[in-house]
Amino acid sequence: MRVLVYGGTFSPPHAGHVRSVQIAAEALRPDRIVLIPASVPPHKALARGTPPAEDRMEMTRLAARSVPGAEVSDRELRREGKSYTSDTLRALREEFPDAELVFLLGTDMLLTLPDWHEPKVICSLASIAVFSRETGREGQIAAGAEALRRDFGATVYVLSGAPVAVSSTELRALLPQRGGAELIPPEVYAYIIRKRLYGAKPDLTWLRKQAHAYLKPKRVPHVLGVEAEAVRLAERWGADPGDAAEAAICHDITKALDRDAQLRLCEKYAILLDDCERRSEKLLHARTGAAFARDLFGLSDAVTAAIRWHTTGRAGMTDLERITYLADYIEPNREGFDGLQELRAACYDDLDRAMELATRMSLCEVRDAGNAPHENTVRAHEYYRSLLRERGLAPVHAAGIDDEL
Ligand code: ATP
Repeated sequence: MRVLVYGGTFSPPHAGHVRSVQIAAEALRPDRIVLIPASVPPHKALARGTPPAEDRMEMTRLAARSVPGAEVSDRELRREGKSYTSDTLRALREEFPDAELVFLLGTDMLLTLPDWHEPKVICSLASIAVFSRETGREGQIAAGAEALRRDFGATVYVLSGAPVAVSSTELRALLPQRGGAELIPPEVYAYIIRKRLYGAKPDLTWLRKQAHAYLKPKRVPHVLGVEAEAVRLAERWGADPGDAAEAAICHDITKALDRDAQLRLCEKYAILLDDCERRSEKLLHARTGAAFARDLFGLSDAVTAAIRWHTTGRAGMTDLERITYLADYIEPNREGFDGLQELRAACYDDLDRAMELATRMSLCEVRDAGNAPHENTVRAHEYYRSLLRERGLAPVHAAGIDDEL
């Protein structure tokens, strides 16, 4: 019996780790594959912002799904104090007395192994398998392997295959810049974004793919249009274009759901509805969409609020909330209604005047359809109307729209 053992901080696990185990599994045909996230690695301090043990355990479990038969052990995470590889291998030797333990590591670890705690014990308890982290280090690996054989009587397997040159350190730097998605197993990446580990912000291409999957196909051009418009408005008004894009991409995420499904989400996320919202399906999706998208993608309070207020508006909206509300109104695919041209111009001229006009247009539309407006829209309109008065600005006159309500 052969047991492949792969230890690491796995913070986060990445494509290099997965490639490494896949290559080792193909070459060595182990009967068991055990990934062991380390608690406090003796040879390096845990980087600041390292997620709690449960998160590293869960990420490693998700990464292990890419390697058939791989399992994850929490034995080191459960252990108090430093986790020495020699202690782990002693414990595994007891568990598998007759097995060949094969300890898998990357180039960097191979070269430092002689300096670890009890290297001779490690090499007597387990064979060593090494997979290069990058091309062009064959000479160093051969020399390192030879040194282990010579000094510690180690059995060393040198594995070949195309490496993925990436490190967790690089990824921790890339994740807050919306990078790294393609170097992390998809389920691990989704987990990182959902919990916003490492200060991660979602790669917008990834987020689009995830969020658009919930839309009816005919709605996709609209959502893309809102995103483009929201980013332009954010740039115009000094808001964060990435936040604007996140809000826009997710703003209609529950729009395709019927009333029952919406109500189930309200129950799940403890959303209390008022009478008006209960009557109007159109208003529900802003409430459920905000909660659902936040749960899936770990959205910030600011982005969640922009989704939550994108249909009714409210008095005293943040810039991001106004940008999302207005982008939804004027995105390039919108056409053929009174006031649109004037509203488009106002959005790039003065956000307060744009909000006064947009809420006035919305209230006119609701009234003309014979419906009662939501009180948040009424208040939003009053708020922006009085703000214009305070600022000594006239409301925008738009053809076909009442100047006064
Ligand atoms: P950090 O950047 O935080 O030091 P890391 O990317 O080196 O992290 P670890 O979890 O510390 O990842 O590594 C666990 C094991 O995986 C080590 O044996 C390491 O050599 C190996 N390893 C890490 N990255 C790669 C890679 N890209 N290719 C092959 N092996 C790798």
